[in-house]
Amino acid sequence: MMGMMRAVLRLIGIMTYDKYLRDDDMSNKWDKRFLELAKHISDWSKDPSTKVGCVVVGEDREIRSTGFNGFPRGIEDKIERLEDREQKYPMICHAEENAIMHAARIGISLKGTMAYVTWPPCSRCTRSLIQAGISEVVYPEDVEIPERWQKDFSIASGMMSEAGIIVRMA
Ligand SMILES: [Zn+2]
Repeated sequence: MMGMMRAVLRLIGIMTYDKYLRDDDMSNKWDKRFLELAKHISDWSKDPSTKVGCVVVGEDREIRSTGFNGFPRGIEDKIERLEDREQKYPMICHAEENAIMHAARIGISLKGTMAYVTWPPCSRCTRSLIQAGISEVVYPEDVEIPERWQKDFSIASGMMSEAGIIVRMA
């Protein structure tokens, strides 16, 4: 049955069934790898409530940048700042912003890349992802979004779709 299928596919000029399966498995494997790496990097965040990681990957699966949420360089990680949302929100860089700004700092283009994140991007990061030229965003399928973020994530998701960014869960 498999042999016949392969022969038919070859006959009509489509890549072999084997290769089709292999490519699919490969991209799943790399999606999982980069999401695991993003998860690992999220643990470097000092934020006690939310830890997010981001890995930006080029077309050859080369890692171009990484980031996790935290205060900018030179801004002290005081626990009273991190535990108070009023103080924290205006100062903290999200994981995606940090990955993008880290690349800017050292002169690496993120145009046409894929961003692996442990959470769906918020509207603030979405603006930066679009402007940095990121073309695909992947986040874990089992992520649970707190109520307070849901409205913002739905705005972000509308922006990404309008700007032509591919959004996938893996
Ligand atoms: Zn964000």
